[in-house]
Amino acid sequence: MATIFTRIVQGEIPCYKIAEDDNFLAFLDINPLQEGHTLVIPKKEVNYIFDIEDDLHAGLWNFAKKVAKALEKVIPCQRIGVTVIGLEVPHAHIHLIPLKTMFDMDFKRSKLTFTPEEFKSIADRIAKLV
Ligand code: 5GP
Repeated sequence: MATIFTRIVQGEIPCYKIAEDDNFLAFLDINPLQEGHTLVIPKKEVNYIFDIEDDLHAGLWNFAKKVAKALEKVIPCQRIGVTVIGLEVPHAHIHLIPLKTMFDMDFKRSKLTFTPEEFKSIADRIAKLV
């Protein structure tokens, strides 16, 4: 069965899109730890990030870098934190999280909520700079 992220890639499930090209997609995490918490995925469905073939794997990180550079211009932060977990969704993804302190990346913290309009506004502001 297709992962939830493949269904997002195929447009079956909506997302707040930040950037995409032929191989990669970046969109806002629906349960963000911080404003601008973004997921960057390969469109190709691969469960574990270190099983991605080399060129696509390098491309994923280069794409994430471009998104992170836009993110740090839009969301006030010290820098963009990066993590890879993948225990919930079996489709490789990189979390990009704007950080003011290291505790901003603590996944045990309660998640933020935004209205659809707020999510869209955040995504649009970042998307313009990618
Ligand atoms: P992980 O697999 O890295 O542990 O976590 C998966 C992440 O994907 C979580 O932060 C979760 O909030 C996010 N997520 C799960 N389902 C969806 C979804 O349908 N849409 C979006 N935008 N994010 C999702």
